[in-house]
Amino acid sequence: MAIDFFRIANAGVQQLKPYQAGKPIEELQREYGLKQVVKLASNENPLGTSPKALNALKNACTAENLARYPDSNGFRLKAQLAAKLKLSPQQITLGNGSNDVLELIARAFANEQHSTLFSQYAFAVYPIITQAIGARAIVVPAKDWGHDLSAMLAAIETDTQVIFIANPNNPTGTWLTQHALHNFLHQVPATILVVLDEAYVEYVSEPDYPNSLPWLADFPNLIITRTFSKAYGLAGLRVGYALSHPDIADLLNRVRQPFNVNSLALLAAENALDDGAHLQKAIELNQQGRAYLSQAIESMGFSVIPSVGNFICVDFQQDAQTLYQKLLQHGVIVRPVANYGLPQHLRISMGLPDENVFFINKLARCL
Ligand SMILES: *Cc1c(COP(=O)(O)O)cnc(C)c1O
Repeated sequence: MAIDFFRIANAGVQQLKPYQAGKPIEELQREYGLKQVVKLASNENPLGTSPKALNALKNACTAENLARYPDSNGFRLKAQLAAKLKLSPQQITLGNGSNDVLELIARAFANEQHSTLFSQYAFAVYPIITQAIGARAIVVPAKDWGHDLSAMLAAIETDTQVIFIANPNNPTGTWLTQHALHNFLHQVPATILVVLDEAYVEYVSEPDYPNSLPWLADFPNLIITRTFSKAYGLAGLRVGYALSHPDIADLLNRVRQPFNVNSLALLAAENALDDGAHLQKAIELNQQGRAYLSQAIESMGFSVIPSVGNFICVDFQQDAQTLYQKLLQHGVIVRPVANYGLPQHLRISMGLPDENVFFINKLARCL
C-alpha cells in the first residue's frame, strides 16, 4: 500500500508552498530555444561579482584548498565586518545567504506554541519559515504597499516571538524612516525579537533612511540581517549575516550547521567587502536604471510603486501571469508576484542600461 508521506510529515510542512524563485536564464533558453535572454527577476547585481572577488576565487580554486573544510567560525570575514560596522565579531552570525540566518532566528526562538508577525506583501521567506517550524503567522495589512507599523504594534499577541520587517521591503520597494522605526522599537516589548531585514541597504540614499547599527546598543532584542547577494553581487555563492546582541548570536550559532558558509563564499565576501569602487558603480547604475525604467513605464500609463531598492513593482492592470509569459517568449524574465497577493503586478530588477532598453522594447510589444 502506498504510504501517505504528506500525512506523516510535520503539520506545518504538509501545507507549505515552496518558494518560487526567478526563472534561471538557462532554463528559458532551453525551453524556447532562445539565445538572447535578459533576466530582471531576482534583484541580482547586473554588473556581476566584483573583479577583486573573482580574482581571489580563481586563485583559491586549488585541489588543496577545496579539499579542506571551511573556517567554521568565519574568523576573517567576521573581523572585517566588525571593523567596518564598528561592532564586535561576537555580534555577527554568518549564514548561507541571509535566508539561512532568518531561518536560524525562527528555529531558535519560535515553535508550535508561538506566532511570528510581519506585513502583508513582505518578503516571502517570512511565512515559509514560520510555517516550517509550525508557528502561526500574524499578517498585518499593508499601508500604501508598505509596513503599517502602528497596526503591527497593535497586532502583537502574547505568544508573539519574532517580528520581521524588511527595510526596504521586497517586492514593493517601500521603506521606513529612521523616526518611524525608532519609535516602533521603543514600543515593542523587550522580549520580542525584531528582525530588521536590510538586504538592500547599500542601495538606499534617502537621508531619513535609518542607520540602524547604533540601535543594537539600545535594543538588545533587535537583529539586523544583511546579505552579499544583492549589491555585492554574490547571490550564487550564498553569504549573509545577522548583527545582534552577542547572546542572540551565541544562540543562533548553536542551531546553525557547523559549515553553513563555504570557503569560496567566505573568501569572495571578504574581497567584495574590500571593493568599494565596484559597489559604488552598482549603486550609481541602479539609480540611473531605476529612474529610466520608472519613467519609461509610467509614460506607458502604468503606476510604479516608489522604490528605494534595485527593483520596481508595477501595476500592469491586467493578469500579470499572462504578461509574464509573453515577456518570456521575447527573452525577458521578470518576476510575477501573485504569490504575494499582487496578481496584476510584476517586479522588475534593474539591469544594465542595454538590458533595460531591451526590456522596455519587448514590453511595448507585449502590451
Ligand atoms: C533577497 C532577499 C533576502 C535574502 O537573500 P539571500 O540571498 O538569502 O541573502 C533577504 N531579504 C529580502 C527582503 C530579500 O529581498
